[in-house]
Amino acid sequence: MEDDAEVVVQNKQVIFKDYIINNGSLKASNMAVTCDATIRLELPNNEDGLILTKNLYLSCDPYMKNRMLESMQGKFNDSFQFALGSPVRGFGVAKVLDSSHSKFTKGDLIWGPINWEEYSLIKDTQALIKIHYTDDVPLSYYTGILGMTGLTAYVGFYDICSPKKGDTVFVSAASGAIGQLVGQFAKLHGCYVVGSAGSDEKVDLLMNKFGFDEAFNYNKEEDLSATLKRYFPNGIDIYFENVGGKMLDGVLPNMRLHGRIAACGMISQSNLDKPEGINNLVFLIYKRIRMEGFQVSDYFHSYPKFTEMILPLIKEGKITYVEDIVEGLENAPSALVGLFTGNNIGKQVVVISHE
Ligand code: NAP
Repeated sequence: MEDDAEVVVQNKQVIFKDYIINNGSLKASNMAVTCDATIRLELPNNEDGLILTKNLYLSCDPYMKNRMLESMQGKFNDSFQFALGSPVRGFGVAKVLDSSHSKFTKGDLIWGPINWEEYSLIKDTQALIKIHYTDDVPLSYYTGILGMTGLTAYVGFYDICSPKKGDTVFVSAASGAIGQLVGQFAKLHGCYVVGSAGSDEKVDLLMNKFGFDEAFNYNKEEDLSATLKRYFPNGIDIYFENVGGKMLDGVLPNMRLHGRIAACGMISQSNLDKPEGINNLVFLIYKRIRMEGFQVSDYFHSYPKFTEMILPLIKEGKITYVEDIVEGLENAPSALVGLFTGNNIGKQVVVISHE
């Protein structure tokens, strides 16, 4: 038996500190970075089914804000529910330091829901996926393109949008974690693709890195419906919706007959006291549009099929992925907040440790 001083270490954590009241903005002060906790880097004796992990990479995702809204408490029953005083929880990548679970062994790499802390003792391993890691793919990709985000882009585009070669496709929040992938999938499928983003730097990425046909900075446009008419004189077949609000209102009159809208997210509404109304919904009827919301959590069975498709595309350089990497657990709260002000350029990742 080792000396306790050697196996008990400090465990830095990001704690959920305060509810967001009403539908206010997420602030870094809703969370607290603490070094109060310690953890024993040894599995308890005589208990099977546990793993001890060193947490490496964290994914920042917009849905995490919902788990901090006072008004949403009690509305989710899954393992992502945040409890006051407990660590924030999200998708991430971790290394197994020790295991008494038959599915995992020491040294395994995993991705799935993990706490925002340096080390975890995990009992509920059901949602964790083992990574078959090869050096030619960055490990951090399992927070994004090879994780929940990539799967969202994949099912949203291929399952919900029913794309056909030659379709015209519009993607909002196009340079973000999901948008950049949807645009590239659409190009690989032989579609004409336009993206919108909130800065000229992001527009440049869309055109020169991700291969969008056209892109615009929505902050510089006064009349979004007129802007879209300019880019789609014959209308939009597919709209991949990430932002909602004014953008959706501008898109609806520009949709083509039998157009498809995948309602993935409506981030523009998330910091408003009262959601904006949509004026142009009647075009759903005039244009026989199919608008469908989806939740990636219903599609995890598609993950093996998805990786079979995406891994070769990454390795052959046919798909590229931009990450916005922040170093240090202490910077995780501000990185998460930045999603709601457009600070992130690409997938927002937080590095706790590179190994
Ligand atoms: P992301 O695009 O990487 O980051 C969020 C981006 O949203 C920001 O960079 C910003 O880009 C844009 N944004 C923030 N506030 C905005 C506002 N007020 N108006 C317009 N744009 C705003 O995030 P992501 O992870 O790829 O998520 C994209 C969307 O998918 C989100 O709505 C998210 O909730 C949703 N989502 C849905 C599912 C699902 O299962 N349905 C799963 C994951 C994510 P700009 O600077 O370009 O404005």
